[in-house]
Amino acid sequence: MNEPLSARQPQVSLRPSACPGLLRIVQAKDGGICRIKLAGGALTADQADAVATAAERFAGGEIEATNRGNLQIRGIGSEQAGLIEQLLAAGLGPRDAAGDDVRNLMLSPTAGVDPQMLFDTRPLAEQLLKTLETTPRLHQLSAKFAVQVDGGEGLAMLEHPHDLWLSALQLDGERWLAFGLAGCPAHDAPLGAVPLAQGHALVLAVLNRFLDLARPEQTRMRQLLAECSPEDFIAGLGLSIRCDSTVQQWRRQVTAGSGYLGTYPQLQPGLSAVGAAAPLGRLTPSMLRGAARLVRELGDGSLRLTPWQGLLLPNIARHDVSAVSSGLTQLGLLCSADEALTRLVACTGSAGCAKSLAETKGDARVLATLLTCGAPASVHLSGCPRSCAMAHVAPATLLAQSPGHYDLYLRDAARPGLGNLRARNLTLKEAGALLDARSRSTLDD
Ligand code: SF4
Repeated sequence: MNEPLSARQPQVSLRPSACPGLLRIVQAKDGGICRIKLAGGALTADQADAVATAAERFAGGEIEATNRGNLQIRGIGSEQAGLIEQLLAAGLGPRDAAGDDVRNLMLSPTAGVDPQMLFDTRPLAEQLLKTLETTPRLHQLSAKFAVQVDGGEGLAMLEHPHDLWLSALQLDGERWLAFGLAGCPAHDAPLGAVPLAQGHALVLAVLNRFLDLARPEQTRMRQLLAECSPEDFIAGLGLSIRCDSTVQQWRRQVTAGSGYLGTYPQLQPGLSAVGAAAPLGRLTPSMLRGAARLVRELGDGSLRLTPWQGLLLPNIARHDVSAVSSGLTQLGLLCSADEALTRLVACTGSAGCAKSLAETKGDARVLATLLTCGAPASVHLSGCPRSCAMAHVAPATLLAQSPGHYDLYLRDAARPGLGNLRARNLTLKEAGALLDARSRSTLDD
């Protein structure tokens, strides 16, 4: 039997959060938001059904796939306790109520099945999540403090900044974990490396040292590193860290492109994963239920959420791949990068967020019809400068100024923020024409 809800309310945190969680429903313009943090993005078919039912029964049926491989239910009405109980009954809660916020551990959506991986990250992730959820001291971390474990998979989001990232590499015939602080494997050199078997100890040492050194108002690693050098930070970890030039010169190979859409052959012979994007990050209950049905019938009864705001259905026999792809397409999911909507990201917009100056999601749908080049570079429509919808800067950002009008920024690695301001106050038609005119190579990720 589940514990009563009252017994599962989190304690007061040293770094309180305004972000939604499973047990903390935050009000927005369109109702309450509940964020369901998934272990490595994994969801069973039964859990997908439970989320769909909860969204219909207690909210307006709006479900979001987030850019960290989690789910959100929006538009929740007054029966919040009922919604939470339903999600807990489906096994979607943390082991300890106070551990909900700190379940921020990102893996590749092809963890354990990717042909290029150096190791299966899932057992280490499971061990880390258990420690995070059940160690009271770690609950003093902020709800945004995030860790990435990268097993070297070909399909991985490597650009999202994390407070701590670990990335597998091969050194002298052994597997190691390179790591860095307040950055990402795609752009940053490692600070050091530890043998793979030391991965759990390294993460714990980093989290505890952060809590030892950070003041309560310092919620993220980058804030602490403004006062404490990375070298001083790792010198106090109490672990033997390899920091030689071989490690420091190592760089994670990044596979560009849209491999998260369509068929992705697995390590396991004869099996593939099939990926699809949720249009502008939105899933309907029927999409989730339909995907659950597909994995029950043709997969292994599980699915994964991706950091590209979509789904990945693993362990599909090669001869069933086309049936799964067409099933996902019929549900309204996007399986091909040829569809312009797969390259557009939009925040909630004025329909659900009081801060937004434009209806970004509706505008993105209009923009998708105006882009004539088939697959333009990725474009992010943001209702205000907070840029909630992207964890890293997009090649092109349209920042709302008023309904239907946007400033266009193009990413520039040499500049902080959104990049270079290229045009002001564009209509959607003007923005579409300008984006179309840009060469793909200039804008592509
Ligand atoms: S980016 Fe701004 S407008 Fe868009 S959802 Fe976030 S806070 Fe709201």
